[in-house]
This record gives sequence, structure tokens and C-alpha cells, in this order.
Amino acid sequence: MELKLDGKRALVTGGTRGIGRAVALTLAGAGADVVTCYRQESEAVEAVRRDLRLTGGNHHVIQADVSDHERVAHLAAECRARLGGLDVVVNNAGAVSHVPFADLSHEEWRRIVETNLTGAFSVVHETLPLLPAGGSIILIGSRVAMVGLPQRAHYTASKSGLLGLSRTLSKELGPKGIRINVVQPGVIQTIDIPAARAEHYKSIISLGRLGQAEEVANVVAFLASDLAGYVTGATIDVDGGT
Ligand code: NDP
Repeated sequence: MELKLDGKRALVTGGTRGIGRAVALTLAGAGADVVTCYRQESEAVEAVRRDLRLTGGNHHVIQADVSDHERVAHLAAECRARLGGLDVVVNNAGAVSHVPFADLSHEEWRRIVETNLTGAFSVVHETLPLLPAGGSIILIGSRVAMVGLPQRAHYTASKSGLLGLSRTLSKELGPKGIRINVVQPGVIQTIDIPAARAEHYKSIISLGRLGQAEEVANVVAFLASDLAGYVTGATIDVDGGT
């Protein structure tokens, strides 16, 4: 049994850093053609462009802020023009901030919800016409949606919203042969985490270590593949056990 994505066309939002970058490279490494996007110019953009090129295949890295609906529509049009459609959509781009609820402004609430939840709506809504039967949508949520964390009310609410979106769409899209699932990472080492905080996390994670972006990407790749042909409306935690 081999995970093969040859001939599949995938969009991964937020693919220049962290989990999104690992997903884009894993899908490309398994044979998919990949379009990915980012919000702002940085050295990471050229780096992922170069690394995707090394995998071979037809890959494109495009600026599109997922909280800007017009840019998402443009991104979908680019997927149609450059790949001829999509088989896999990975909604990964996300933002987080740590703010006590009493200090949370409407502006900050909107920024996080518009990126994480309304962005997911825009991405799925605009790309759905490009997905044939057999298509797979994967939303990157967060383990926090199940447990809550202080100072993350806006983030947690946005990630919880993805669960409702996914469960509803699994019912609407199932008859069309399109699957949708949520992957919920725990603490993934995408940035340097202060040693004391890392030790605390390790003490409450069953496997006793933080996760790697590639470990999330492997689960996404499985859900993208035909091996997961009977999996929809599911929520899969990639959190080392908490
Ligand atoms: P990073 O901050 O490391 O990377 C985020 C990526 O998304 C970057 O490529 C960034 O591009 C892009 N991005 C951010 N905002 C936007 C936007 N508005 N439009 C388009 N692209 C955007 O994030 P992580 O890898 O840590 O997280 C990825 C996903 O996983 C998020 O949804 C996050 O909530 C979720 N997650 C992460 C966990 C973790 O421990 N890391 C735990 C649980 C969930 P740019 O450089 O241009 O900003």
C-alpha cells in the first residue's frame, strides 16, 4: 500500500512557513502538482519556490491573503488557469494572538476570525467549482478547539467554527463524492518555543515531545489520497496524545 498523489492537483494556503510549507512539500514529494499562497513577501517565499521546484512537477507560489475575498477568487482562478482544476484543497493559513478576553478588541477578534474562519469559507467556496468527484478538502484546525486555552477566545472560536463548517459540508458534499475533514495539530514546533514552556508542554503530552510539521503533513497527505476514500466529516488530532 503506497501513498501516491501522482496526477492530483492541490492548493495549500499559507505554504511558505511551518505546517503549510511541510504540507506543500510532502504533497509535491508524493507526486501532486501544488499551488500555494502567502500573505506577505519574505525570504521564505523564494525558499519554498526553490524547494518545490526540486521535487519536479508543476508548482506555483502566489500572493493571496485569505482574509481578502477578492484575492482568494484570484487564487482560485490561478488554480484553474495553471493546473486546470483541483483535486485537493488544504486550508492551512491561520493567525493567532494571545490576548486576555477583557482586553480583546473587536478589531483583533475580526482579524483572527476573518483569517481563520471566514478565510476558510472563502477558500472552500471559491475552489469548490474546481473540485471533481473524488476531491478532498482538509481544514487545519487546532486541538485548542476541543479544550480551550486562556487568552485565545478569538482563536479557539475560529477553529471551533471549522468543525461546524466541515461537518455540514461533509453532508452537502458527500453525495457529490467530495470529502472534507479537519486535522487538529497540538503543539507543533514551527517556531522556537521558550525552554520552560516547551518543558511544560512535554509534561502534558503523552508522547513526551512536541510535534514536527512533517508529522501533520503526513496525515494531510493520507487524507488527500485515495487511501482515505471512506473518510469524511472526521476530525483527526495530531497532538502526541493530550
Ligand atoms: P506559521 O505562522 O508558521 O505559518 C503560517 C503560514 O500561513 C505562512 O506561510 C503565512 O504566510 C501564511 N499566512 C498567514 N496568514 C495568512 C493569510 N491571511 N493569507 C495567506 N497566508 C497566510 O503557522 P503554523 O505553521 O504554526 O500554523 C499553520 C496552521 O496550523 C494554522 O492554521 C494554525 O492555526 C494551525 N495550528 C498550528 C499549531 C502549531 O503549534 N504551530 C497548533 C495548532 C494549529 P506569511 O509568511 O506571508 O504570513
